Amino acid sequence: MKTAAEYLESMRGLNPRIFLGGKQVNLLENPTTMTVVRANARVYELAQDLQYQEIMTAVSPYTGKRVSRCLHIAQSIHDLEMRAEMALLTSQMLGTCNYRCVGADTLNALAGVTWEMDRDLGTDYHQRFIKYLKYLQENDLAVSGAVTDPKGERTKRPAQQEDPDVYVHVVEKRSDGIVVRGAKVSQSGAIGCHETVVIPTMAMRPGEENFAVAFAVPNGAPGITYISQYTPFTAEREVMPDVKYLGNPLYGQRETCTMVFENVFVPWERVFLCGETQFTGKLIARFAKTHRMNCGGACKVGFADLIIGASQLAAEYAGVQKAPHIVEKITDMIRIRETCYACSVAAAVKGREEPTGSGFYQPDDIFGNVAKLTVADGFWEIMKWAGDIGGGMAVTMPSELELENTETAHYVKKFFKAAASAGLRLRIAKFIQNWCAGLHGAGTWHGAGSPQAQKMALYALTDLEKKKKLAKNLAGIAE
Ligand SMILES: Cc1cc2nc3c(=O)[nH]c(=O)nc-3n(C[C@H](O)[C@H](O)[C@H](O)COP(=O)(O)OP(=O)(O)OC[C@H]3O[C@@H](n4cnc5c(N)ncnc54)[C@H](O)[C@@H]3O)c2cc1C
Repeated sequence: MKTAAEYLESMRGLNPRIFLGGKQVNLLENPTTMTVVRANARVYELAQDLQYQEIMTAVSPYTGKRVSRCLHIAQSIHDLEMRAEMALLTSQMLGTCNYRCVGADTLNALAGVTWEMDRDLGTDYHQRFIKYLKYLQENDLAVSGAVTDPKGERTKRPAQQEDPDVYVHVVEKRSDGIVVRGAKVSQSGAIGCHETVVIPTMAMRPGEENFAVAFAVPNGAPGITYISQYTPFTAEREVMPDVKYLGNPLYGQRETCTMVFENVFVPWERVFLCGETQFTGKLIARFAKTHRMNCGGACKVGFADLIIGASQLAAEYAGVQKAPHIVEKITDMIRIRETCYACSVAAAVKGREEPTGSGFYQPDDIFGNVAKLTVADGFWEIMKWAGDIGGGMAVTMPSELELENTETAHYVKKFFKAAASAGLRLRIAKFIQNWCAGLHGAGTWHGAGSPQAQKMALYALTDLEKKKKLAKNLAGIAE
């Protein structure tokens, strides 16, 4: 497996075409794109740390060797549990995405679906997929996952859109491969991963064969352009003389980009579904259930740990930690954190082999959806209490740079000192600002799917007839 240094070295060999804030940037030179590279390097480091071996790695049945869990296909309930634990651990360590998370979940969804296609249709997708997976595992490559299309006018199907490029689709089939066009939006960390696995954003119908396509592309393949998100945090990082003054100094925000595919050639050995619309529903459903347990659930539990820790520190620095209402608010944050964690663990523990006979495991659908839904609301609640405990200074405090300015340092030290120094208070206030006044609220709400999607799934999955029968039985209502 790669060390962090080897990962960094491997990035030097890439040349992705990245635009950020109106200009082209170099992955390894820009302060914002470097947060992605640094976060990935940390994930490689964690995988080398023996205390995290069981969480961060697994033995591959395909290579017989220990591989990153980001590249492992779950073979048991234990694997599902460890996958959720990896999401939790990496969030605690990074305060941003494990940028290999979506890739891991697309690989897991593809394993079962390609297996079923070969069984039912006599294709060789699964063989191709396993060959590709072995290549990833043997080279310990970082893989991002591309699911979300721009989608254009939401009331129209892909083929009805004025511009078909708002959904990734095949424009040419050749003897040696396919040519694809379109884009994927909100792509976490694709710029700093070796590979991207692409799957359709939704179930496709007959007549939408060109949009039913799953494949893998190497970083910076000809025809791919990455347009990075640009936020006030990007601007702040560009002007700060030292990253230590930022809310999440090393790893920054959850960095995403729009990934444009302009007539990108994909050889057949990297194509895992092409035209089989009837399997796209299963593919996206399996991706959703694993991603909602991990990114939707466990990952945000790790973020919650950071916010709760910061809120407790802010309370102690101000000297209010023993006030009953502060204890109550911290306790409420813990309650929400533990509820979200319990849903993710339940999704793993109640997982099962899917498809039957494949040897691959998927989390429970209902608990996965409930994990994501509980997080979506719970995260805002946690941020509400962090904003409350942090005080107005979480958004009104001066920069720590004022402590280095002789004209202002004595004022800031004098007026921001409480039970702790002004320096400590400003540092933790900035950390809280990073969460409460930043990108994480909307990011957590939509990441792993907007909540309406989980509500629809939950309603459809629930056996209401059974519940009606139970009620009728006790109420004495005869049929
Ligand atoms: C921080 C972050 C990281 C992400 N990382 C990745 C990633 O790595 N890879 C990836 O593929 N995706 C990623 N995503 C994308 C994420 O999966 C999507 O944001 C999510 O699925 C919602 O899609 P959308 O953003 O297009 O929202 P929209 O679909 O535009 O939703 C906006 C609103 O419109 C509603 N809506 C949408 N369609 C309809 C309809 N047909 N009828 C009625 N209402 C509708 C929604 O319910 C919601 O209320 C990321 C998102 C975030 C925020």
